[in-house]
Amino acid sequence: MRCVDCGMKEAPHEQELCDECYENNNTDTVIYKIPWQKYDPENPPELGKTFLVCIGSKTMEAELRVSFNGRLLWWTDHGFDDTVSHYAPINLPGEE
Ligand SMILES: [Zn+2]
Repeated sequence: MRCVDCGMKEAPHEQELCDECYENNNTDTVIYKIPWQKYDPENPPELGKTFLVCIGSKTMEAELRVSFNGRLLWWTDHGFDDTVSHYAPINLPGEE
């Protein structure tokens, strides 16, 4: 049968994907697994650095800043937010 992903190549009988798509899928799983850490105000990550954050079921970029009243808050697309539950570092290509 044909590969269900690319629809181009022939897939081996026992699987739905061709070898190439099968390998890509496996790679994606590794790359996109996000190392979430629970946000603990007592032990915050580095200030002013951009992180991927989790707000409810949404993810977005944000950085931790000192707000107008001296509290540590996450600066997001929609302003300061204190409902961030988890954060993860963003690694750019070439960075450790
Ligand atoms: Zn394929």
